[in-house]
Amino acid sequence: MTGYVLKCLVCDREFPDTYTLTCPYGCQGLIRTRYAAKQIILRDEPGVFKYSDWLPVTGSIPTMAGPVCYKSKSLAYNLGLSDLWIVFSGYWPEKGAFAVSGSFKEFEAFPTMQRIAGKTKRVILVSSAGNTGRAFAEVSAQTGQPVIIVVPESARDRIFTTTPADDVMLITISGDYTDAIILGNRICSLPGVFPEGGAKNVARRDGMGTVMLAGTLAMGTIPDWYLQAVGSGTGGIAAYEASLRLIADGRFGSKMPRLLLFQNEPFIPIARAWQEGRREIKDADMPNAINSISQVYSEVLTNREPPYGITGGVYDTLMATKGIMGSVSSKNAREAGNLFYSCEGIDPDPAAAVCVAGLIQTLRSGIINQDEKILLNITGGGYEMGEKELPRYVKRPDMLVTKMTPFEEIVTAVQKWMKTYA
Ligand SMILES: *Cc1c(COP(=O)(O)O)cnc(C)c1O
Ligand SMILES: [Zn+2]
Repeated sequence: MTGYVLKCLVCDREFPDTYTLTCPYGCQGLIRTRYAAKQIILRDEPGVFKYSDWLPVTGSIPTMAGPVCYKSKSLAYNLGLSDLWIVFSGYWPEKGAFAVSGSFKEFEAFPTMQRIAGKTKRVILVSSAGNTGRAFAEVSAQTGQPVIIVVPESARDRIFTTTPADDVMLITISGDYTDAIILGNRICSLPGVFPEGGAKNVARRDGMGTVMLAGTLAMGTIPDWYLQAVGSGTGGIAAYEASLRLIADGRFGSKMPRLLLFQNEPFIPIARAWQEGRREIKDADMPNAINSISQVYSEVLTNREPPYGITGGVYDTLMATKGIMGSVSSKNAREAGNLFYSCEGIDPDPAAAVCVAGLIQTLRSGIINQDEKILLNITGGGYEMGEKELPRYVKRPDMLVTKMTPFEEIVTAVQKWMKTYA
């Protein structure tokens, strides 16, 4: 007996967790967890598994990685805010933040890997622009669970771990994040390989949702605003779903936080579609995609196929939270990142800098009042300290491919690797 069931957001039917990404009755929307625990009781664990009441897991993996929330003094003062809270995901020992891979992707990777541990012989595959791949590589290195990771060649130096990642097969492809996703999908058609599923994976969403949980528990109440930089928007969906649970819990207030999500110009497909009130993202929302992706400050925000229009996805989430989609320039993001660093004393991931720039921009426009309770999701950071203090094993790619590499060659290599490791 586990403490949760899955529920389809299209047909409303509930079913036990068979590690599926979709409704067993064939619906196209997202599925969501429903937990037996209406009120969350924190477990006696140092990291993300303290929130296991609201994670689709059956045990835990020992880790200190978890979101850390504190009330900002310096940045708040600088921006004239009285109730600004920072939830930090990354490496910052002084604050108790031990996501050694540096981003909130680690809070997705741990529950995802625990959920499947011992339950399937198949191997999970992750396509990533860098942070997700590094997070899954780290969990694999710590647990010995096999993972196949596909990243664009430009991200190859970003796959490193604190202990050797011997059970990771790393494939790099010349191209961008989308090329990695396309190749990853093809490899998932092989028997024995399955996709981690991104937003469709409830363990990923509820893992990311721990950011809202950590924030609310630190603040005592649900915030008025939740701010995050998004590429897929999965973190936004997760924050909304966590808020639904927190409201149902009854102890933290009843007002749904408004989501304020940001993309990095010039690649802003979600912002474009949302501003025009459309449920679909069109090609016209990403003109000169390859070129605009090459110009952003934060590459992790360049997802060309976000879970936007799907039932339960970003569009529905923005509707349900009276959300706002903004976009910021790379120049503003860089400056905001510097401001954050000088105020708070830790280097933010470029995506987190985008979020800080978004906060500044929104304050200027008068949408946020200065005394509102703001939860600023600093989705990654602390790389400088991590580089100094943590062991670093850069994963050597097992295979370097281009778009011209015959797929059969890749198949042979993957199958050979699976025989040895999985
Ligand atoms: C992936 C990532 C994001 C964007 O997250 P989504 O919710 O999936 O769009 C933001 N910041 C960092 C540091 C990330 O790694
Ligand atoms: Zn269904």
